[in-house]
Amino acid sequence: MNRNQKKRLPKIGFHAPIKGGLHEALVVARDTGCDTVQIFSRNPRGWTAKPLSRADILLFRKTRRLTKLSPVVIHCNYLVNLAAADDLLLQKSRVSFREEVERALWLGADYLVVHPGSARGSCEADGIGTCSASLKIACRRLNLGKLRILLENTAGQGECIGHRFEHLREIMDACPKLPLGVCFDTAHAFTAGYDIREEDGLQALIEKIQNTVKTKNVRAIHFNDSRAAYNSRVDRHWHIGEGRIGSEALRRVAQHPKLAHAAFILETPYDDPRADLKNLNMLRSFVDTESP
Ligand SMILES: [Zn+2]
Ligand SMILES: [Zn+2]
Repeated sequence: MNRNQKKRLPKIGFHAPIKGGLHEALVVARDTGCDTVQIFSRNPRGWTAKPLSRADILLFRKTRRLTKLSPVVIHCNYLVNLAAADDLLLQKSRVSFREEVERALWLGADYLVVHPGSARGSCEADGIGTCSASLKIACRRLNLGKLRILLENTAGQGECIGHRFEHLREIMDACPKLPLGVCFDTAHAFTAGYDIREEDGLQALIEKIQNTVKTKNVRAIHFNDSRAAYNSRVDRHWHIGEGRIGSEALRRVAQHPKLAHAAFILETPYDDPRADLKNLNMLRSFVDTESP
């Protein structure tokens, strides 16, 4: 195969910090060698967010054009629980999620990633129903344009729904008019009981995805190793190749032809910028199968 025939490599990137401002996260990602990026559009652990000014939005959009990062992914804040059984929490979550959607639209993001939520106080089936209703209510009368909302599979910690791909499928089926897709988190799948350490386990998971949400709807992959054990239902991301999944298994995920269209995004611990670079280089070596 000559270079012209070479297949397009998957886009790779990481979750970039927004300490220096939203646009600065794009610069950091580009300077580190990312093709794509994920950010929070606000403080992820507070209910109130500083409104985006017109200047913030213009600067972000301009920086995005200059850095050519694509897709741009926003991860929803962590307080939102679209499946909440508690009415006050549910109302606050719906308002906050609508704000997240509006911010993503203003910033021109491609994807907004959200966890389906926790069904604490009710049951899984009710949680799935509540989450579906929340998505519809929060997006009411908004023109989502090109923005797609990605439901992320979870580790199933506590009473979180979304740890089975069937849950995500049910939510998608209940919201046929919304542009929904899936974000597949490798560490969450592993600790939720999908054993991707061996080739046949990965193949079984790919078939499961195809038979539920469909691989074409997996638009982003959170590419993480896991510090927590298989089937532990614990959510602990870890550096690539240093966790319980391991580099050989993660390499197979990165090279899987059914996932090549998705954006691969690292969410490994941000304890040291060099660790980010190391994880990114490792992911690059996995996807670039023709590199020596
Ligand atoms: Zn997430
Ligand atoms: Zn994730």
